[in-house]
Parts: sequence; structure tokens; C-alpha cells
Amino acid sequence: MPILKKSLDVSSSENPLIEFQSILKEAMDILNYSNEAFELLKEPIRFLEVKIPVRMDNGKTEVFVGYRAQHNDSTGPTKGGIRFHPNVTADEVKALSGWMSLKCGINRLPYGGAKGGIICDPRKMSNRELEQLSRGYVRAISQIVGPTKDIPAPDVYTNSQIMAWMLDEYDHLREFDSPSFITGKPLVLGGSQGRETATSKGVLYTLQFISDLKKMPIKDMRVIIQGFGNVGSYLAQYLHDIGAKVIGISDVLGGIYKEEGLDIPYLLSKRDSFGIVSNLYSNSISNEELLEKECDVLVPAAIGGQINKHNVHRLKCKIVVEAANGPTTKDAIKILKDKDIMVVPDIFANSGGVIVSYFEWCQNNHGHYWTEQLVDERLKAIMTDSFSNIIRTAEFYKVDMKVAAYIEGIRRIVEASAIRGWIRS
Ligand code: GLU
Repeated sequence: MPILKKSLDVSSSENPLIEFQSILKEAMDILNYSNEAFELLKEPIRFLEVKIPVRMDNGKTEVFVGYRAQHNDSTGPTKGGIRFHPNVTADEVKALSGWMSLKCGINRLPYGGAKGGIICDPRKMSNRELEQLSRGYVRAISQIVGPTKDIPAPDVYTNSQIMAWMLDEYDHLREFDSPSFITGKPLVLGGSQGRETATSKGVLYTLQFISDLKKMPIKDMRVIIQGFGNVGSYLAQYLHDIGAKVIGISDVLGGIYKEEGLDIPYLLSKRDSFGIVSNLYSNSISNEELLEKECDVLVPAAIGGQINKHNVHRLKCKIVVEAANGPTTKDAIKILKDKDIMVVPDIFANSGGVIVSYFEWCQNNHGHYWTEQLVDERLKAIMTDSFSNIIRTAEFYKVDMKVAAYIEGIRRIVEASAIRGWIRS
């Protein structure tokens, strides 16, 4: 067992819900929206806390706590992933549901945002225990989810196998086959081509947009990726394939750094299902140290609150591309702006996942399936439009990209909530 260095689980003291609310307020004030609109959108419209008893392998029952937050359903059913993590909190799930609304708004998807979470440590659970937990969660939230109500998907430490168990449980409860209940499924159960790699592809497209904007060829970029899970590992592979240099990566235990570039194919062949690779190297460094290494692009692709007021002064990158949800705190973003370091916001940069989830849902509803090439083309087309909208908005209102992305994301939700008669915009 490798020595535990500074763990990724140590997040900042900032409360993500307060962070969400304060940037939302800033964006809504710029748009001159009413206070009642803010009152409606600062928290989810629906929030459920559940208890899930699971008979563990040792014969004892453990009771897990889970949440599902639905931020706003004025533009359509709500949509968002489910995370399994020991640090899940109610406020984090609420904030994440708000960010999902913004992602859907930015990309003009016919959804509002949602998010779910269970407080657990999947690294310490057997497959049988994980299956029972997944099925128990679906039973507990089944009243408020469904293909036209709220559609779950994978998030931190959940995957297509967990989606398959959840779908199976839902089908048993409803007594009919309903593939559009959940996205991120295995292909054989109605999953979409390109869904597993979608978030990383979206981050790659984001890097291409930035490369065009800054006239900085992507293959000359030296990139550090924090996190080697689904998003970080595929991204490392894509960057390696196009000739960019990945000089540092990290996992939950620590980081590895090599100025000449890391051997990505080797690391990919050795990573386990939790993305652990740092134990392969004797000279590994801590996550904290990795974030502070000099590079062109820093991609935090792990969990929230990693770049905060405590470490932001020591960052030596030129651009931060937020592949995780909420990795940079509001204070840190302001400081990075003063240092002329561009932050490409999560609610745009990592939205490839939910965009392809939307494609998956459309395919399930039509019973007609697309090629990976078509999925990729449509993903890129949506993200290209959204990126130019955010850049235009940032220039028009003279705000940073984070606030611009909130402005772009919130407009449709306020318009739909107002036209339904819920609020005055
Ligand atoms: N969990 C992903 C996210 O945070 C995907 C959500 C989805 O596909 O619905 O965007």
C-alpha cells in the first residue's frame, strides 16, 4: 500500500452552495433580474434526503445517507449525475444541481439541473455492496425521478455498471423497459457511442478553442492534469495522441511530474479502476505540489475546492481549464484574474458529458442509434456555439469567463420560469 500523501479528499473550507449563490447573484444583477428570480434560483426547487440500509458482506446492516437535488424544471425535466464519495454533503449536492442547470442553459439543452450523491467510500466496498447501495438508492428516490421528470447519470466514482444496476431496479419497479430513465449506460442497454469519453472530448475541444483564441498551438502546450479518473485519463490520452505534452498527473494518493513529458500509454495500461498510478513511481509528489508546478495549462479534473485562497498564489500556469465541478473557489478566480491567468469555467469546459447524455436520451426516446462520428460532430457543433456566446458575453459585459458563463446559463431558466408565470424576471 503506497504511503498516503496529501489526499484529494482534502477540499477547501469554502461552501460550494455559497460560492454558487454569490456568482449567480453577480450574474443576475448584471442582467437586472428581480430579487424573486434570485430567491427561486439560489436553491433547488426540490431536495430529498434518503436513508439506504445495505446488508454488508460481514452480515451487518449499514445505513447510508443519500441526496437528490432538482434545481429547476422550467425548461424541461431535470438532469444530472450521482456521485459516491465520503465527502458528499447536502450543500455540495445543491450547488452541483445549480451548476447542472447552468450547463444545460449554456448549451441550450431542454433540461434543468439535478444532482445526486451518497455518502460512502466505494473504494472500500465490494461489488455486491455497491450493487445493493445503487438499487436501494433508486428505490428511495423513485417517486421523483423518471424519463420525463429527472434523469440521472454517472459522476464522481460512479460508472456504467452502476447505471446498469440502477436502470434494472427502475425497470423492475415500473414493470416496463425504460432506457431513457438514466444515461451513461453500457451500450448493450441503450448507452450512446461516445458517452464514456464525452467529458474529456469536450475538455479537448475547449483546449482547441483556447488554442485558436490565444494563437498557441495545442501541440506546444505543456499540460498538468489533476485526477486520473474517467475524465483525466481519456484527456491525457487525447492530448498525447495529438502531440501535446502531459508533464504531470495525479490521483487520489499523489502526483507524478516529468518535465520532458510522461509516458501516458504506460500509465493508462497500469491504472486501476479508481485511476491510481502515482504508486508506480518512487519519486511521486503530493497533489498540492503538482498544482504548483510550472505549466501552460492546468486541468483540475478531480473534485471541488482544489484551487483556493491558500494555494492560488503559488500557481505557475497560464490557463486553468476546469474539468471537475467547482475546482476553483470564487476568491481564487479573482486572484487568478489579477494575475492574468485565464480560467475556463467548469459549467462550459466539462459540459460534454451532459451534452452526450442528452444525445443518449434522444436516441433512447427514438429507438434509433447514432454513430460515434455523428455524436462527436454534434458535440463539437454545440460546444463551438456555446464558446463563442460566452466569449461575446464576456466582452459585452466586461466580465470574466466564469460570470459570462453564468449569464449565458441563467437566461433561459429565468425566461422559462417567468413565461410559466412563476416569477417576474
Ligand atoms: N456528472 C456529469 C456532470 O457533472 C454528467 C451529468 C449528466 O450526464 O447528466 O456534468
